[in-house]
Amino acid sequence: MQASQWLPIAELSAKVRAGELRAADLVEQALKTIEAKKEYNAIIATIPERARTRAASIDAAIKNGETVGRLAGVPFIAKDNFLVFGAETTAASNMLKGFTAPYQSTVIEKLEAEGAICVAKANLDAFAHGASTENSDFFTTKNPADVARVPGGSSGGSAAAVVLDMAPFALGTDTGGSVRQPASFVGCVGYKPTYGLMSRSGIVAMASSTDVVGTLTRTADDAAYVIDVIAGRDPLDGTTIERDPAGYTDVPAAMKGKKIGLIKEWMGEGVAPGVATVIRSAADAFRAAGADVREVSLPSLPLSLAVYYIVVPAEVSSNLSRHDGQRFAFSYADAATLDESYTQSRGNGFGAEAKRRIMIGTYVLSSGYYDAYYRKAQTVRTKLINEFNEAFKQFDFLIGPVAPTTAFKIGENASDPLQMYLADVMTVGPSLAGLPAISVPAGTSDNLPVGLHIVAPQRSDRALLGMAKAAEELLA
Ligand code: GLN
Repeated sequence: MQASQWLPIAELSAKVRAGELRAADLVEQALKTIEAKKEYNAIIATIPERARTRAASIDAAIKNGETVGRLAGVPFIAKDNFLVFGAETTAASNMLKGFTAPYQSTVIEKLEAEGAICVAKANLDAFAHGASTENSDFFTTKNPADVARVPGGSSGGSAAAVVLDMAPFALGTDTGGSVRQPASFVGCVGYKPTYGLMSRSGIVAMASSTDVVGTLTRTADDAAYVIDVIAGRDPLDGTTIERDPAGYTDVPAAMKGKKIGLIKEWMGEGVAPGVATVIRSAADAFRAAGADVREVSLPSLPLSLAVYYIVVPAEVSSNLSRHDGQRFAFSYADAATLDESYTQSRGNGFGAEAKRRIMIGTYVLSSGYYDAYYRKAQTVRTKLINEFNEAFKQFDFLIGPVAPTTAFKIGENASDPLQMYLADVMTVGPSLAGLPAISVPAGTSDNLPVGLHIVAPQRSDRALLGMAKAAEELLA
Protein backbone atom coordinates (compact mmCIF):
# COMPACT_ATOMS: atom_id res chain seq x y z
CA MET A 1 0.00 0.00 0.00
CA GLN A 2 1.31 3.48 -0.86
CA ALA A 3 2.34 6.00 1.77
CA SER A 4 -0.64 7.51 3.54
CA GLN A 5 -1.38 10.91 5.02
CA TRP A 6 -3.01 9.08 7.95
CA LEU A 7 -1.14 7.56 10.86
CA PRO A 8 -2.12 4.05 11.95
CA ILE A 9 -5.52 4.44 13.66
CA ALA A 10 -4.29 3.64 17.19
CA GLU A 11 -1.55 6.30 16.92
CA LEU A 12 -3.82 8.85 15.30
CA SER A 13 -6.41 8.71 18.06
CA ALA A 14 -3.71 8.67 20.74
CA LYS A 15 -2.38 11.95 19.35
CA VAL A 16 -5.87 13.47 19.36
CA ARG A 17 -6.37 12.38 22.97
CA ALA A 18 -3.00 13.85 23.91
CA GLY A 19 -4.00 17.18 22.34
CA GLU A 20 -1.24 16.96 19.68
CA LEU A 21 -3.77 16.75 16.84
CA ARG A 22 -7.20 18.32 16.64
CA ALA A 23 -10.29 16.37 15.56
CA ALA A 24 -11.44 19.48 13.64
CA ASP A 25 -8.28 19.44 11.51
CA LEU A 26 -8.58 15.73 10.77
CA VAL A 27 -12.16 16.22 9.59
CA GLU A 28 -11.08 19.09 7.30
CA GLN A 29 -8.22 16.98 5.98
CA ALA A 30 -10.65 14.16 5.10
CA LEU A 31 -13.17 16.53 3.48
CA LYS A 32 -10.42 18.25 1.50
CA THR A 33 -9.11 14.93 0.16
CA ILE A 34 -12.63 13.81 -0.77
CA GLU A 35 -13.16 17.07 -2.68
CA ALA A 36 -9.78 16.85 -4.42
CA LYS A 37 -10.48 13.30 -5.61
CA LYS A 38 -14.11 13.73 -6.58
CA GLU A 39 -13.61 12.45 -10.10
CA TYR A 40 -13.21 8.88 -8.84
CA ASN A 41 -16.90 8.83 -7.85
CA ALA A 42 -16.15 6.98 -4.62
CA ILE A 43 -18.47 9.16 -2.54
CA ILE A 44 -22.22 9.70 -2.81
CA ALA A 45 -22.42 12.49 -0.22
CA THR A 46 -20.33 14.13 2.46
CA ILE A 47 -21.89 15.06 5.81
CA PRO A 48 -19.73 18.06 6.72
CA GLU A 49 -21.92 19.87 9.25
CA ARG A 50 -22.56 16.86 11.39
CA ALA A 51 -18.85 15.91 11.22
CA ARG A 52 -17.67 19.42 12.15
CA THR A 53 -20.06 19.64 15.09
CA ARG A 54 -18.86 16.31 16.46
CA ALA A 55 -15.21 17.26 15.97
CA ALA A 56 -15.72 20.55 17.82
CA SER A 57 -17.31 18.79 20.78
CA ILE A 58 -14.48 16.23 20.94
CA ASP A 59 -11.83 18.98 20.83
CA ALA A 60 -13.69 20.92 23.53
CA ALA A 61 -13.97 17.83 25.75
CA ILE A 62 -10.22 17.22 25.43
CA LYS A 63 -9.50 20.84 26.28
CA ASN A 64 -11.65 20.49 29.40
CA GLY A 65 -9.72 17.42 30.46
CA GLU A 66 -12.69 15.09 29.93
CA THR A 67 -12.11 11.50 28.85
CA VAL A 68 -12.80 10.81 25.19
CA GLY A 69 -13.02 7.48 23.37
CA ARG A 70 -10.33 5.37 21.80
CA LEU A 71 -11.25 6.50 18.27
CA ALA A 72 -11.37 10.17 19.25
CA GLY A 73 -11.28 12.38 16.17
CA VAL A 74 -10.71 9.57 13.66
CA PRO A 75 -12.67 10.30 10.45
CA PHE A 76 -14.29 7.40 8.61
CA ILE A 77 -16.52 6.73 5.63
CA ALA A 78 -19.59 4.46 5.66
CA LYS A 79 -21.01 2.62 2.69
CA ASP A 80 -24.33 4.28 1.88
CA ASN A 81 -26.37 1.33 3.17
CA PHE A 82 -25.54 2.20 6.81
CA LEU A 83 -28.06 4.45 8.51
CA VAL A 84 -26.30 7.49 9.95
CA PHE A 85 -28.67 9.60 12.03
CA GLY A 86 -29.91 12.65 10.16
CA ALA A 87 -28.03 11.83 6.94
CA GLU A 88 -29.48 10.62 3.65
CA THR A 89 -29.14 6.83 3.18
CA THR A 90 -29.78 5.73 -0.39
CA ALA A 91 -28.13 2.31 -0.77
CA ALA A 92 -27.29 3.85 -4.19
CA SER A 93 -30.85 3.16 -5.31
CA ASN A 94 -33.41 5.60 -6.68
CA MET A 95 -35.86 3.79 -4.42
CA LEU A 96 -34.28 5.36 -1.33
CA LYS A 97 -33.14 8.69 -2.77
CA GLY A 98 -34.16 11.41 -0.31
CA PHE A 99 -34.56 8.99 2.63
CA THR A 100 -33.20 10.56 5.79
CA ALA A 101 -32.21 8.08 8.50
CA PRO A 102 -34.51 8.45 11.53
CA TYR A 103 -32.15 6.36 13.69
CA GLN A 104 -28.75 4.85 13.11
CA SER A 105 -26.91 1.56 12.84
CA THR A 106 -25.54 0.05 16.00
CA VAL A 107 -22.02 -0.05 14.56
CA ILE A 108 -22.13 3.68 13.74
CA GLU A 109 -23.42 4.27 17.27
CA LYS A 110 -20.53 2.25 18.74
CA LEU A 111 -17.91 4.04 16.62
CA GLU A 112 -19.31 7.44 17.53
CA ALA A 113 -19.44 6.53 21.21
CA GLU A 114 -15.66 6.05 20.95
CA GLY A 115 -15.22 9.40 19.20
CA ALA A 116 -14.93 8.36 15.52
CA ILE A 117 -16.45 10.80 13.03
CA CYS A 118 -18.39 9.79 9.92
CA VAL A 119 -17.52 12.26 7.16
CA ALA A 120 -19.12 10.71 4.09
CA LYS A 121 -21.25 7.98 2.57
CA ALA A 122 -19.64 5.81 -0.11
CA ASN A 123 -20.96 4.50 -3.41
CA LEU A 124 -22.06 0.88 -3.88
CA ASP A 125 -23.99 -1.32 -6.24
CA ALA A 126 -27.65 -0.49 -5.53
CA PHE A 127 -28.82 -2.48 -2.48
CA ALA A 128 -25.34 -4.08 -2.50
CA HIS A 129 -26.20 -6.26 -5.50
CA GLY A 130 -23.09 -6.48 -7.61
CA ALA A 131 -19.35 -6.78 -7.92
CA SER A 132 -18.33 -3.55 -9.66
CA THR A 133 -20.45 -0.54 -8.49
CA GLU A 134 -21.84 -0.44 -12.05
CA ASN A 135 -25.24 -1.33 -10.58
CA SER A 136 -25.28 1.93 -8.62
CA ASP A 137 -28.23 4.02 -9.83
CA PHE A 138 -25.99 7.11 -9.59
CA PHE A 139 -22.53 6.47 -11.03
CA THR A 140 -19.69 3.97 -11.30
CA THR A 141 -16.67 4.33 -9.04
CA LYS A 142 -13.28 4.28 -10.75
CA ASN A 143 -10.46 2.03 -9.62
CA PRO A 144 -7.60 4.20 -8.31
CA ALA A 145 -5.09 1.75 -9.83
CA ASP A 146 -6.57 2.27 -13.33
CA VAL A 147 -9.49 4.62 -13.90
CA ALA A 148 -10.74 2.58 -16.87
CA ARG A 149 -11.45 -0.30 -14.49
CA VAL A 150 -14.01 -1.05 -11.79
CA PRO A 151 -13.05 -0.99 -8.10
CA GLY A 152 -15.03 -4.20 -7.48
CA GLY A 153 -18.19 -4.22 -5.46
CA SER A 154 -20.49 -3.85 -3.92
CA SER A 155 -18.41 -1.86 -1.39
CA GLY A 156 -16.35 -0.40 -4.25
CA GLY A 157 -16.77 3.20 -3.07
CA SER A 158 -15.56 2.35 0.45
CA ALA A 159 -12.55 0.40 -0.85
CA ALA A 160 -11.56 3.09 -3.36
CA ALA A 161 -11.97 5.78 -0.66
CA VAL A 162 -9.42 4.02 1.55
CA VAL A 163 -6.87 3.65 -1.24
CA LEU A 164 -7.50 7.30 -2.24
CA ASP A 165 -6.58 8.16 1.36
CA MET A 166 -9.88 9.95 2.02
CA ALA A 167 -10.12 8.58 5.57
CA PRO A 168 -8.23 6.15 7.81
CA PHE A 169 -10.94 3.51 7.39
CA ALA A 170 -14.25 2.75 5.76
CA LEU A 171 -17.14 0.45 6.55
CA GLY A 172 -18.63 -1.96 4.05
CA THR A 173 -20.98 -4.90 4.06
CA ASP A 174 -20.18 -8.37 2.76
CA THR A 175 -22.98 -10.73 1.76
CA GLY A 176 -21.05 -12.75 -0.82
CA GLY A 177 -17.74 -10.93 -1.15
CA SER A 178 -18.59 -7.24 -1.16
CA VAL A 179 -15.76 -6.26 1.18
CA ARG A 180 -13.11 -8.80 0.14
CA GLN A 181 -13.43 -8.54 -3.64
CA PRO A 182 -13.17 -4.72 -3.86
CA ALA A 183 -10.26 -4.84 -1.40
CA SER A 184 -8.54 -7.28 -3.76
CA PHE A 185 -9.31 -5.10 -6.81
CA VAL A 186 -8.02 -1.83 -5.34
CA GLY A 187 -5.27 -3.13 -3.03
CA CYS A 188 -6.37 -2.66 0.58
CA VAL A 189 -7.30 -4.95 3.47
CA GLY A 190 -10.93 -6.13 3.46
CA TYR A 191 -12.18 -7.97 6.54
CA LYS A 192 -15.34 -10.07 6.68
CA PRO A 193 -15.99 -11.29 10.23
CA THR A 194 -17.72 -14.45 11.44
CA TYR A 195 -21.44 -14.20 10.71
CA GLY A 196 -23.06 -12.46 13.65
CA LEU A 197 -19.97 -10.82 15.11
CA MET A 198 -21.29 -7.33 14.33
CA SER A 199 -24.81 -6.04 14.52
CA ARG A 200 -26.71 -5.39 11.29
CA SER A 201 -29.29 -3.25 13.02
CA GLY A 202 -29.72 -0.06 10.99
CA ILE A 203 -28.20 -1.42 7.78
CA VAL A 204 -30.24 -1.85 4.61
CA ALA A 205 -30.74 -5.63 4.50
CA MET A 206 -29.68 -7.66 1.49
CA ALA A 207 -29.62 -11.39 2.40
CA SER A 208 -30.03 -11.89 6.12
CA SER A 209 -28.41 -15.33 6.37
CA THR A 210 -25.06 -14.05 5.06
CA ASP A 211 -25.04 -10.22 5.54
CA VAL A 212 -22.14 -9.02 7.71
CA VAL A 213 -20.47 -5.69 8.40
CA GLY A 214 -16.87 -5.51 7.20
CA THR A 215 -13.96 -3.10 7.35
CA LEU A 216 -11.75 -1.61 4.65
CA THR A 217 -8.39 -0.45 5.95
CA ARG A 218 -4.78 0.01 5.01
CA THR A 219 -3.55 -2.67 7.42
CA ALA A 220 -4.75 -5.67 9.42
CA ASP A 221 -3.82 -3.75 12.58
CA ASP A 222 -6.21 -0.94 11.66
CA ALA A 223 -8.94 -3.51 10.96
CA ALA A 224 -8.36 -5.10 14.36
CA TYR A 225 -8.58 -1.74 16.11
CA VAL A 226 -11.94 -0.95 14.51
CA ILE A 227 -13.33 -4.49 14.95
CA ASP A 228 -12.48 -4.33 18.64
CA VAL A 229 -14.88 -1.38 18.92
CA ILE A 230 -17.77 -2.71 16.85
CA ALA A 231 -17.82 -6.47 17.61
CA GLY A 232 -20.23 -8.10 19.99
CA ARG A 233 -23.80 -8.82 20.92
CA ASP A 234 -26.57 -6.34 20.24
CA PRO A 235 -30.11 -6.72 21.57
CA LEU A 236 -31.32 -5.12 18.32
CA ASP A 237 -29.91 -7.99 16.21
CA GLY A 238 -30.81 -11.45 17.49
CA THR A 239 -28.18 -13.14 15.30
CA THR A 240 -25.26 -11.44 17.03
CA ILE A 241 -22.69 -13.47 19.01
CA GLU A 242 -20.41 -12.65 21.94
CA ARG A 243 -17.11 -10.94 21.19
CA ASP A 244 -13.89 -12.84 21.84
CA PRO A 245 -13.03 -12.25 25.53
CA ALA A 246 -9.40 -11.73 24.47
CA GLY A 247 -10.42 -8.84 22.20
CA TYR A 248 -9.05 -8.21 18.72
CA THR A 249 -6.13 -5.89 19.29
CA ASP A 250 -2.66 -6.92 20.50
CA VAL A 251 -2.88 -10.07 18.37
CA PRO A 252 0.64 -11.30 17.64
CA ALA A 253 1.54 -11.96 13.99
CA ALA A 254 1.71 -15.74 13.71
CA MET A 255 2.94 -17.88 10.81
CA LYS A 256 5.47 -20.42 12.07
CA GLY A 257 3.95 -23.87 12.51
CA LYS A 258 0.57 -22.86 11.09
CA LYS A 259 -1.20 -25.48 8.99
CA ILE A 260 -2.50 -23.86 5.84
CA GLY A 261 -4.61 -25.45 3.10
CA LEU A 262 -4.33 -24.06 -0.41
CA ILE A 263 -7.77 -24.71 -1.90
CA LYS A 264 -7.43 -26.78 -5.07
CA GLU A 265 -10.83 -25.78 -6.48
CA TRP A 266 -9.80 -22.11 -6.32
CA MET A 267 -6.58 -22.59 -8.26
CA GLY A 268 -7.81 -24.41 -11.36
CA GLU A 269 -9.67 -23.53 -14.52
CA GLY A 270 -10.91 -19.97 -14.92
CA VAL A 271 -8.27 -18.42 -12.67
CA ALA A 272 -6.14 -15.85 -14.47
CA PRO A 273 -2.53 -17.11 -14.63
CA GLY A 274 -1.23 -13.82 -13.19
CA VAL A 275 -3.52 -14.20 -10.17
CA ALA A 276 -2.51 -17.85 -9.61
CA THR A 277 1.17 -16.87 -9.73
CA VAL A 278 0.75 -14.25 -6.99
CA ILE A 279 -1.11 -16.75 -4.78
CA ARG A 280 1.48 -19.49 -5.31
CA SER A 281 4.31 -17.17 -4.39
CA ALA A 282 2.42 -16.12 -1.25
CA ALA A 283 2.15 -19.84 -0.35
CA ASP A 284 5.91 -20.22 -0.95
CA ALA A 285 6.65 -17.23 1.29
CA PHE A 286 4.52 -18.78 4.06
CA ARG A 287 6.38 -22.10 3.70
CA ALA A 288 9.70 -20.31 3.92
CA ALA A 289 8.47 -18.63 7.13
CA GLY A 290 7.77 -22.01 8.71
CA ALA A 291 4.14 -22.69 7.83
CA ASP A 292 3.02 -26.10 6.63
CA VAL A 293 1.19 -25.33 3.38
CA ARG A 294 -0.51 -28.18 1.54
CA GLU A 295 -3.18 -28.46 -1.12
CA VAL A 296 -6.69 -29.34 0.07
CA SER A 297 -9.80 -30.24 -1.89
CA LEU A 298 -13.36 -29.18 -1.04
CA PRO A 299 -15.30 -30.98 -3.77
CA SER A 300 -18.60 -29.10 -3.24
CA LEU A 301 -16.98 -25.68 -3.41
CA PRO A 302 -17.60 -25.23 -7.17
CA LEU A 303 -21.33 -25.53 -6.39
CA SER A 304 -21.30 -22.58 -4.00
CA LEU A 305 -21.98 -19.99 -6.72
CA ALA A 306 -25.14 -21.83 -7.84
CA VAL A 307 -26.26 -22.20 -4.22
CA TYR A 308 -25.59 -18.53 -3.50
CA TYR A 309 -27.56 -17.32 -6.52
CA ILE A 310 -30.60 -19.25 -5.31
CA VAL A 311 -30.44 -18.58 -1.56
CA VAL A 312 -29.49 -14.91 -1.82
CA PRO A 313 -32.16 -13.83 -4.35
CA ALA A 314 -34.72 -15.70 -2.23
CA GLU A 315 -33.76 -13.60 0.79
CA VAL A 316 -33.44 -10.45 -1.34
CA SER A 317 -36.99 -10.88 -2.67
CA SER A 318 -38.23 -11.04 0.89
CA ASN A 319 -36.10 -8.18 2.26
CA LEU A 320 -36.93 -5.83 -0.62
CA SER A 321 -40.67 -6.32 -0.26
CA ARG A 322 -40.74 -3.53 2.33
CA HIS A 323 -39.86 -1.01 -0.39
CA ASP A 324 -43.40 -0.63 -1.63
CA GLY A 325 -43.69 3.09 -2.21
CA GLN A 326 -45.77 3.62 0.93
CA ARG A 327 -42.87 4.06 3.36
CA PHE A 328 -39.26 5.28 3.09
CA ALA A 329 -38.58 7.45 0.07
CA PHE A 330 -39.63 6.92 -3.54
CA SER A 331 -43.36 6.81 -4.17
CA TYR A 332 -45.06 7.01 -7.54
CA ALA A 333 -47.21 10.09 -7.28
CA ASP A 334 -49.90 9.59 -9.93
CA ALA A 335 -51.29 6.20 -8.94
CA ALA A 336 -55.08 5.99 -8.70
CA THR A 337 -55.14 2.82 -6.59
CA LEU A 338 -52.93 1.21 -3.97
CA ASP A 339 -52.14 -1.66 -6.34
CA GLU A 340 -51.06 0.74 -9.03
CA SER A 341 -48.95 2.61 -6.49
CA TYR A 342 -47.11 -0.59 -5.51
CA THR A 343 -46.54 -1.58 -9.11
CA GLN A 344 -45.44 1.80 -10.35
CA SER A 345 -43.29 2.57 -7.30
CA ARG A 346 -41.45 -0.75 -7.47
CA GLY A 347 -41.36 -0.70 -11.26
CA ASN A 348 -39.80 2.75 -11.41
CA GLY A 349 -37.82 2.76 -8.15
CA PHE A 350 -35.85 -0.48 -8.51
CA GLY A 351 -33.03 -0.90 -11.01
CA ALA A 352 -32.61 -3.88 -13.33
CA GLU A 353 -30.47 -5.98 -10.97
CA ALA A 354 -32.82 -5.63 -7.99
CA LYS A 355 -35.73 -6.63 -10.26
CA ARG A 356 -33.78 -9.62 -11.57
CA ARG A 357 -33.08 -10.83 -8.02
CA ILE A 358 -36.67 -10.25 -6.87
CA MET A 359 -37.94 -12.33 -9.79
CA ILE A 360 -35.43 -15.16 -9.32
CA GLY A 361 -36.04 -15.16 -5.57
CA THR A 362 -39.80 -15.22 -5.89
CA TYR A 363 -39.54 -18.03 -8.43
CA VAL A 364 -37.28 -20.30 -6.34
CA LEU A 365 -39.50 -19.84 -3.30
CA SER A 366 -42.78 -20.41 -5.09
CA SER A 367 -44.73 -23.59 -4.43
CA GLY A 368 -43.79 -26.19 -6.99
CA TYR A 369 -40.24 -24.85 -7.36
CA TYR A 370 -39.28 -24.53 -3.69
CA ASP A 371 -38.17 -28.18 -3.41
CA ALA A 372 -36.38 -28.19 -6.74
CA TYR A 373 -34.38 -25.03 -6.09
CA TYR A 374 -34.47 -23.47 -2.63
CA ARG A 375 -34.53 -26.66 -0.56
CA LYS A 376 -31.92 -28.32 -2.77
CA ALA A 377 -29.66 -25.27 -2.50
CA GLN A 378 -29.92 -25.35 1.31
CA THR A 379 -29.01 -29.06 1.29
CA VAL A 380 -25.90 -28.39 -0.76
CA ARG A 381 -25.13 -25.45 1.53
CA THR A 382 -25.05 -27.86 4.49
CA LYS A 383 -22.74 -30.21 2.56
CA LEU A 384 -20.45 -27.28 1.88
CA ILE A 385 -20.41 -26.29 5.56
CA ASN A 386 -19.52 -29.89 6.46
CA GLU A 387 -16.63 -29.88 3.99
CA PHE A 388 -15.28 -26.65 5.48
CA ASN A 389 -15.58 -28.18 8.97
CA GLU A 390 -13.69 -31.30 7.82
CA ALA A 391 -10.94 -29.18 6.25
CA PHE A 392 -10.56 -27.20 9.47
CA LYS A 393 -9.86 -30.44 11.35
CA GLN A 394 -6.60 -30.54 9.41
CA PHE A 395 -5.85 -26.89 8.78
CA ASP A 396 -5.79 -23.67 10.80
CA PHE A 397 -6.49 -21.56 7.71
CA LEU A 398 -7.50 -22.01 4.08
CA ILE A 399 -6.10 -19.77 1.38
CA GLY A 400 -6.53 -18.98 -2.30
CA PRO A 401 -7.40 -16.04 -4.53
CA VAL A 402 -10.22 -13.63 -3.64
CA ALA A 403 -11.43 -13.42 -7.22
CA PRO A 404 -10.48 -15.24 -10.43
CA THR A 405 -9.22 -12.06 -12.10
CA THR A 406 -7.85 -8.64 -11.33
CA ALA A 407 -10.14 -5.60 -11.74
CA PHE A 408 -12.01 -5.79 -15.04
CA LYS A 409 -12.73 -2.87 -17.37
CA ILE A 410 -15.76 -0.66 -16.78
CA GLY A 411 -18.48 -2.01 -19.08
CA GLU A 412 -16.72 -5.33 -19.73
CA ASN A 413 -19.22 -7.48 -17.78
CA ALA A 414 -22.02 -4.97 -17.32
CA SER A 415 -24.39 -6.43 -19.89
CA ASP A 416 -23.81 -10.06 -18.92
CA PRO A 417 -25.13 -10.88 -15.42
CA LEU A 418 -23.71 -14.43 -15.45
CA GLN A 419 -20.23 -13.18 -16.26
CA MET A 420 -20.58 -10.63 -13.45
CA TYR A 421 -21.72 -13.33 -10.99
CA LEU A 422 -18.55 -15.33 -11.79
CA ALA A 423 -16.53 -12.59 -10.08
CA ASP A 424 -18.00 -13.96 -6.82
CA VAL A 425 -17.00 -17.58 -7.33
CA MET A 426 -14.43 -17.64 -4.51
CA THR A 427 -16.03 -15.28 -2.02
CA VAL A 428 -19.53 -16.78 -1.75
CA GLY A 429 -18.45 -20.11 -0.19
CA PRO A 430 -17.16 -18.62 3.08
CA SER A 431 -20.25 -16.36 3.17
CA LEU A 432 -22.64 -19.32 2.93
CA ALA A 433 -20.72 -21.02 5.75
CA GLY A 434 -20.58 -17.87 7.91
CA LEU A 435 -16.78 -18.05 8.11
CA PRO A 436 -14.45 -15.13 8.82
CA ALA A 437 -12.29 -14.26 5.83
CA ILE A 438 -9.94 -11.50 4.78
CA SER A 439 -8.37 -10.12 1.63
CA VAL A 440 -4.77 -9.00 2.12
CA PRO A 441 -2.77 -7.31 -0.67
CA ALA A 442 -0.44 -10.01 -2.01
CA GLY A 443 1.12 -8.48 -5.12
CA THR A 444 0.20 -7.34 -8.59
CA SER A 445 -0.45 -8.78 -12.01
CA ASP A 446 0.08 -6.36 -14.92
CA ASN A 447 0.24 -3.55 -12.36
CA LEU A 448 -3.19 -4.40 -10.93
CA PRO A 449 -3.59 -5.44 -7.28
CA VAL A 450 -4.19 -9.08 -6.32
CA GLY A 451 -5.55 -9.99 -2.89
CA LEU A 452 -4.86 -13.16 -0.94
CA HIS A 453 -7.98 -14.75 0.55
CA ILE A 454 -7.50 -16.21 4.01
CA VAL A 455 -10.41 -18.11 5.56
CA ALA A 456 -10.66 -19.32 9.16
CA PRO A 457 -13.08 -21.39 11.25
CA GLN A 458 -16.10 -19.63 12.75
CA ARG A 459 -15.30 -17.40 15.73
CA SER A 460 -11.56 -17.52 15.14
CA ASP A 461 -11.46 -13.89 14.04
CA ARG A 462 -8.68 -13.15 16.48
CA ALA A 463 -6.45 -15.88 15.07
CA LEU A 464 -7.29 -14.77 11.53
CA LEU A 465 -6.15 -11.23 12.28
CA GLY A 466 -2.84 -12.63 13.60
CA MET A 467 -2.40 -14.65 10.44
CA ALA A 468 -3.27 -11.63 8.30
CA LYS A 469 -0.65 -9.54 10.09
CA ALA A 470 1.99 -12.18 9.44
CA ALA A 471 0.91 -12.42 5.79
CA GLU A 472 1.10 -8.65 5.43
CA GLU A 473 4.67 -8.59 6.79
CA LEU A 474 5.79 -11.38 4.45
CA LEU A 475 4.08 -10.07 1.33
CA ALA A 476 4.87 -6.37 1.74
N1 GLN B 1 -21.20 -9.70 -5.76
C1 GLN B 1 -22.07 -10.43 -4.87
C2 GLN B 1 -23.51 -10.24 -5.29
O1 GLN B 1 -23.73 -9.56 -6.23
C3 GLN B 1 -21.85 -10.03 -3.46
C4 GLN B 1 -22.60 -8.82 -3.04
C5 GLN B 1 -22.40 -8.51 -1.58
O2 GLN B 1 -21.60 -9.12 -0.88
N2 GLN B 1 -23.16 -7.54 -1.11
O3 GLN B 1 -24.39 -10.77 -4.70
